[in-house]
Amino acid sequence: MDLQQATKALKKFFGYDAFRPLQAEIVQAVYDRKDTLVLMPTGGGKSICYQIPAVTLPGTAIVVSPLIALMKDQVEGLIANGVSAAYLNSSQSSAEVRNVEDAAADGYIKILYVSPEKLVSQSFQPLLNRLTISLFAIDEAHCISSWGHDFRPEYTQLKFLKEQYPEVPLIALTATADKLTRKDIASQLKLQNPAIFISSFDRPNISLNVKPGQRRFEQLVDFLKDFPDESGIIYCLSRKGCESLAQKLNDKGFKATHYHADIPAARRSQTQEDFINDRIPIICATIAFGMGIDKSNVRFVVHYNLPRNLEGYYQEIGRAGRDGLPASALMFFSFADVISYREMFENSESNAEQKALKMAKLDRVFQFADSLICRRKTVLTYFGEPFNKNCGNCDVCKNPPQQFDGTIAAQKALSAISRTGEKVGMNLLVDILRGSSRREIFDNGYHEIKTYGLGKEYSFEDWMYILMQLIHLGQIEIAYDDHNRLRVGEEGKKVLFDGKKVPLAMPKPKTKASERAPKRVEKTKTQVLRDELFQVLSGLRRQLAQQRGVPPYLIFSDATLQDMSFKRPLTDEAMLDVSGVGEQKLRLYGDAFMEKIREFVLEQSKEGNQVKGGTQLQSWTMFKSGKSVEEIAAERSLSPVTISSHLATMYEGGEMLDIDEWVSPEECDLIQGALSLFEEPFQQKEIFDHFEGRYNYDKIRWAIADWRRSGK
Ligand code: ADP
Ligand code: ZN
Repeated sequence: MDLQQATKALKKFFGYDAFRPLQAEIVQAVYDRKDTLVLMPTGGGKSICYQIPAVTLPGTAIVVSPLIALMKDQVEGLIANGVSAAYLNSSQSSAEVRNVEDAAADGYIKILYVSPEKLVSQSFQPLLNRLTISLFAIDEAHCISSWGHDFRPEYTQLKFLKEQYPEVPLIALTATADKLTRKDIASQLKLQNPAIFISSFDRPNISLNVKPGQRRFEQLVDFLKDFPDESGIIYCLSRKGCESLAQKLNDKGFKATHYHADIPAARRSQTQEDFINDRIPIICATIAFGMGIDKSNVRFVVHYNLPRNLEGYYQEIGRAGRDGLPASALMFFSFADVISYREMFENSESNAEQKALKMAKLDRVFQFADSLICRRKTVLTYFGEPFNKNCGNCDVCKNPPQQFDGTIAAQKALSAISRTGEKVGMNLLVDILRGSSRREIFDNGYHEIKTYGLGKEYSFEDWMYILMQLIHLGQIEIAYDDHNRLRVGEEGKKVLFDGKKVPLAMPKPKTKASERAPKRVEKTKTQVLRDELFQVLSGLRRQLAQQRGVPPYLIFSDATLQDMSFKRPLTDEAMLDVSGVGEQKLRLYGDAFMEKIREFVLEQSKEGNQVKGGTQLQSWTMFKSGKSVEEIAAERSLSPVTISSHLATMYEGGEMLDIDEWVSPEECDLIQGALSLFEEPFQQKEIFDHFEGRYNYDKIRWAIADWRRSGK
């Protein structure tokens, strides 16, 4: 088996033109019968790494996958692409199990997904022994490691695979990158001298954004306006928080619902289904949501509350933009969340060491939020991946913070903290500095201190940026054990008493208009057309999905529809050229989608919009309605030769008509005999001259069309 066959299979079954980075090398390693360990981020394209060997090698591939829902999705996706796949797990009746086992035993199944329980069970051994096994793939391989949070005891028994089948290649895949887990996987599965592939964990299509958590609902509503009808997840800290946020969003006219562990199981899975099938676009959820959801067109992930660690953050935002199209991650940070976490950690059952670890991880989230350097750089470096450039797709890169002398601001804040007897928290401090008339201020006499109202030059949000930095610099401390009051730190004393300078940085103040400006750029005509066609095609997809009772993404992904709207294929060949259209989907859906595209192109062309293929299609439709070339020419104010050439183009693309009307079979043969002397794209003049004018341009055009149509 070689890579050429692999590339062919990639096109035939999945409709993709090329492997992504590392995929080809991994496939090759499996062909070389090596054990392989693959570390790739969510959405990186792990499945292809074992599915391509599975469909090209003789025998059946056994894939171990821990989540029943995911297993089902994968199998349905494969079947939709014309791959014979099936699964075995505890959710099936014994009759279903028998059916699958029989089909597998008879060699009808190329890819068999099994749960780990099933694979290690005694009842499965007879079948396993009868099969010709092409490879074993262990998905979510980190479940083997007791270090991680997804530990699955059955995974540790999987070592029997290499013991019993030392010659069958085993490929282990995970999106968890840390070294400890990696070692654990290799040693526990008894991989023999494994080839290890670590792909970049960067997800460049996800833009990373962090904002202060003040007035976050308004900020959220603003953000959501850029995603009409598009799918997204909003993570909240508490179950109550999910519910009330979903309610508030609904009140504002958004279609949102909530999801958390307290909801009855049946309703939970309904919500999940509704989300996957694009019936409900926005889910406000705790982190219980998302695991095992393989939805490719999630366009945004919001952390309405601070995530508890960067591992979680990165995993959660990784659910956005799996289709490779642009997606957004937005995180709100606030000290209130830090305080909630601290209380949660404190009250948890963990021992002191575990608590300290949790706190340290939380601190890193805060550093990430407060970072003045590229966010991608910060987070990838955290995961041990060197990233030596600025990404250009995060808020820091797009709006680099400006350095300024923050000494006076720091003095004002520190002095206010000191003069209030170190008794106030963040919000109250800012209100004092900004001269608010909040009652608490008057009750405590804070309006009489010297710095009251002296910080009006900064907005509330600006002050949050400033205080965050002062906290990180050790100038201000938070007394977590005393109502989170602020205190003057050791470093702060130097500022107050020794005149120490405080360089700070802040994002450039943006007016609402400038913030939005880039998104309001006028779309080009091409973009407008593409978006319109995309809408039309999504409509068709929805309709087909409903008719067939399958989720829309099983028909085509958003990325595929985007590419289709761009390429506007009108022939089978052109359709196969669209990324994500393989042979099976061409057979099942090709005609329906081309019909819509044809209608669209014709419509546009009639309205006078120049679209590729439009004018040809217009002539063709008129010809089909019984008009002669001359009549069409007169009606369209074009020459008969042009119309004839339009028809030739349609014929070339596979449409049927009687070519003898234009060129006789003998003439056609003669002209085509000479074509091999020339090269595509043919210059008709050269051919005309070659025959010294014996055949007119019309005949030459038709002979070329016939040549191309038959793929000579
Ligand atoms: P993972 O399992 O690593 O999270 P998937 O295997 O689900 O990722 O792949 C993510 C998406 O990328 C899927 O929609 C998949 O079809 C697509 N994909 C994978 N490989 C390619 C490729 N070579 N070209 C185009 N799309 C690909
Ligand atoms: Zn960046």
